[in-house]
Amino acid sequence: MSQQNGRKINRREFLGQGLAGAIGVGVALGSSGAGSPAWAAEENAAKRLRKGGMVYRRLGRTELMVSELGLGGSPSPPPPVFSAALDRGVNFVDSSAVYGRGQGERNIGRMIKGRRDKVIVCTKFHPYRFQTDVKAQSIKAVEDALERLQTDYIDIICVHGASAPEQCLNDDVLAAFAQLKQEGKVRFTGLSNHSDPAHVLPPIIESGHYDVILLALSVFSGTRVTRADVKAGKVYDNWLADSGLQAVLDLAQERDVGIVAMKTMAGGARQKLAKYQVGETTLPQAKLKWALSREAVACALSEMLNFDILDENLAVVGTTLSANEQTMLRQHILDRSADVCRMCGTCLRACPAGVPILDILRYITYHDEHGKIRHARQSYRRHVSAHTFAACADCDACRRACPHGLDIPAKLRYARSVLA
Ligand code: SF4
Ligand code: SF4
Repeated sequence: MSQQNGRKINRREFLGQGLAGAIGVGVALGSSGAGSPAWAAEENAAKRLRKGGMVYRRLGRTELMVSELGLGGSPSPPPPVFSAALDRGVNFVDSSAVYGRGQGERNIGRMIKGRRDKVIVCTKFHPYRFQTDVKAQSIKAVEDALERLQTDYIDIICVHGASAPEQCLNDDVLAAFAQLKQEGKVRFTGLSNHSDPAHVLPPIIESGHYDVILLALSVFSGTRVTRADVKAGKVYDNWLADSGLQAVLDLAQERDVGIVAMKTMAGGARQKLAKYQVGETTLPQAKLKWALSREAVACALSEMLNFDILDENLAVVGTTLSANEQTMLRQHILDRSADVCRMCGTCLRACPAGVPILDILRYITYHDEHGKIRHARQSYRRHVSAHTFAACADCDACRRACPHGLDIPAKLRYARSVLA
């Protein structure tokens, strides 16, 4: 049971609420009736709302009002930081069954106790890894997540890391989600995507079966720098359109699918970024501002693991990217472009051997930039073996295909040396 206006409402009533279910915010888009101030109507029209120190945005057709910044869940923040983030208006929390092998969800379950109605819980699992009884196993996976989270409903359940439309559009997966919704165990369905969004996402969006997409989106997604450009100091910044990613964002908006940006901090370990600071603005802040300046984006996720990062991140709420900050970002892009994978999938299509290049590049990022050494090695060893690279000896098709000049074979060799 939840409380609303002093009246107890049951789970089905609660789950059925749309705008009024803007939980944790205490207000809804449709709140500007008679007697509401003029600014409220303007904010409603813009699908944004300021309350206290936080700005909330409408998450597509879920009608949930989500805080501009959300808590990434791998790892989950320590309880005092988590609690302070909620006190300061953050209401979106992301997790997955695989984060800490379920420990991430358990941590969140403990931290939201007594505050469940203040939080929009989004979590994920991999239904496409089930070989048999996909519907039953998917339902069981969500029920296990409910237990770990100590809650009786999940706001947004996601297919984790979808890299092909059929992983989401499988009949058994859809049937499992339909049943879970019917039983009031999940409110909305979504997916996360780390690869080839221009090809993977349109059929999923068009299907109408998914309400939310967690999309890898950083300032690097919007830019391209060739080796010649680096020498000339030039950044080509129409790449969001030319890569097809902007078309995905436009389609999502057209179909009213909510977009949550993740991997917003691509580009390097934060401790090496101090040199880019302009005035009061740090580079991580400029990166968040860039993601939030995409009209389709409702919420940008980041890891807020201590109070300094929490303060730094929350300072960007409701602000815009200045010309000086854009200059700072361009310098960073020039410095790092040839090392940052945009997850466009071009190399995967060029590879004759089906090497999971993007997964391996992501494990390098966990290792080098996030300091998640154990997690990076475990993930690598689970999915990669020496046999994976059998066809690489006389080949550099991936390197030639990458539009951003990444020396992929060199990176694969590096991965073997630090992760195998
Ligand atoms: S070098 Fe290896 S990973 Fe790259 S395209 Fe060739 S086989 Fe694929
Ligand atoms: S390595 Fe290059 S081609 Fe492959 S996904 Fe990343 S940016 Fe695209």
